[in-house]
Amino acid sequence: MSGSPQATGIAKVARSAMTLRGTPAVPGIAAAPTVRPAPRIRADLRAEPVAESDRASQYEAFLAATSVVARRLRERATRASGAAAEVLVANAAMAADRGWLGAAEKLIAAGSPAAVAATAATDQFAEVFTKLGGLMAERVTDLRDVCDRVVAELAGVPEPGIPTPARPSILLADDLAPADTAGLDPNLIVGLATSRGGPTSHTAIIARQLGIPCVVAIAGLDDVPAGVDVLIDGAAGQVAIGPDPETAARAVAEYRTQESRTAAWTGPGATADGHRVEILANVQDAAGARATRSQPAEGIGLFRTELCFLDRESEPSIAEQAGIYREVLDAYAGAKVVIRTLDAGSDKPLRFADHADEANPALGVRGIRIAAHNSGILDRQLDAIAQAAADRTPTPWVMAPMISTAAEAKSFAAKVRARGLVPGVMIEVPAAALLAEAILEHVEFLSIGTNDLAQYTMAADRMSADLAALTDPWQPAVLALVARTAAAGATAHKPVGVCGEAAADPLLACVLTGFGISSLSAAGVAVAGVGAALSAVTLEDCRRAAAAVLSTSDPDSARTAARAALQSAE
Ligand code: PEP
Ligand code: MG
Repeated sequence: MSGSPQATGIAKVARSAMTLRGTPAVPGIAAAPTVRPAPRIRADLRAEPVAESDRASQYEAFLAATSVVARRLRERATRASGAAAEVLVANAAMAADRGWLGAAEKLIAAGSPAAVAATAATDQFAEVFTKLGGLMAERVTDLRDVCDRVVAELAGVPEPGIPTPARPSILLADDLAPADTAGLDPNLIVGLATSRGGPTSHTAIIARQLGIPCVVAIAGLDDVPAGVDVLIDGAAGQVAIGPDPETAARAVAEYRTQESRTAAWTGPGATADGHRVEILANVQDAAGARATRSQPAEGIGLFRTELCFLDRESEPSIAEQAGIYREVLDAYAGAKVVIRTLDAGSDKPLRFADHADEANPALGVRGIRIAAHNSGILDRQLDAIAQAAADRTPTPWVMAPMISTAAEAKSFAAKVRARGLVPGVMIEVPAAALLAEAILEHVEFLSIGTNDLAQYTMAADRMSADLAALTDPWQPAVLALVARTAAAGATAHKPVGVCGEAAADPLLACVLTGFGISSLSAAGVAVAGVGAALSAVTLEDCRRAAAAVLSTSDPDSARTAARAALQSAE
């Protein structure tokens, strides 16, 4: 074998260091001390109203400040390129937006000081954007940043911004303004961690362009001060606070080796001795599917359809749904695509599908259970998928989320087959893993959602940062259920894939392959790392690692056992 896959850096760091978890945004590993942006000044919302005679000059000062801010952002855009430049131009336009200027003008005319008016107008817009959700909600940071710059200009103080550290550092922030992110020097800011933001926020987009490892939406990050050493793992979505320096340095060095192997990997997925494992991508909409084409994925292993509709009040028509699904299928024309029916409820509420007022939504009417109460939603979605898939080769696979019984699988499969599609189900509930053989009698494939399988096996909320150690997919109890499900697939000669976050971990990918998992589907950015890791080991190595983890009793020992099994083959 040509070298064992590296565990993600943090997995290798002494686990005594506290590890915070967030959403992976840009892969990469870096170790450095932290820096934080300088605090922004805020308008004094209790300031006295402005005398009527001074209101015109207040408005003039406000307009002057907004045009200075817009000009500076445009100037910065000319020094940037690509997405960074586009973001800066868009923000300059926000500073000159007629709606926003008009809202502030009204407030100033009613007596608000300019800085207060700017803030209140921004709050009004931010509320609307937040309600719209999705990409619009992620633009709230941009809007507030423009406002903060205007407030600073009105107060005659320098623009808020990030420090220029004397040595390479990892920037921690609540959320970063695009104007700050776009100006980052990747030689000095070697990692980015934010407590807010999403993987499609401008922070993440620009960090990706600059190649800076980035994790967003990290619970508990606010308590981490500037100046402490951290190790960030962008692919795993983790930040270890105060790691052992030697181990951290080794993790970074190993990552660099892995990075060059990853950069050279172009697929298709296979072990060093040619055992095929499909390496697929998880997507959430057409734009995401098209963007993922730049990654060496062989197809789509999980299309989370519910994420297309999180901001909808009412159910999209069959025609509209079909249009969206067709765009995703077109992005992967000729390739395998696995579409998941709506997984509404719990952490992904859909206003048009949810069962109201549940005390415990994670254990409530979510996923396929919605069909039992409202089968029309599922029927119409399957009609839309069938329309989108008409005459398409290969036929898309369609799977249901949150299956708990063989009867649910049977009824779902009948509906899918009736429309000429290929039925499968997700294994996310321990009951389904335990009854995988019975479920496989009804469907053509299984796909294991390790995120929910870990949540329900460990009785630990997957959203809880406090319980992150319990929802670790390396928990041996979770791995035992995965192994059991894979074995059921082998007996039935039907494919069993993994599409939860476990599939994005290169070391765990080798273990899963050893269990007999036939496809791994991960976020696009993680695909090449997983493929490269698999290409460095043999099937026998993977089987040895798989057997080793099954005799451990905690995640750390499981990681260590897997690594040792793979290294012993070198
Ligand atoms: C999972 O539970 O692992 C999964 C892939 O589904 P989701 O993360 O969308 O719940
Ligand atoms: Mg799930």
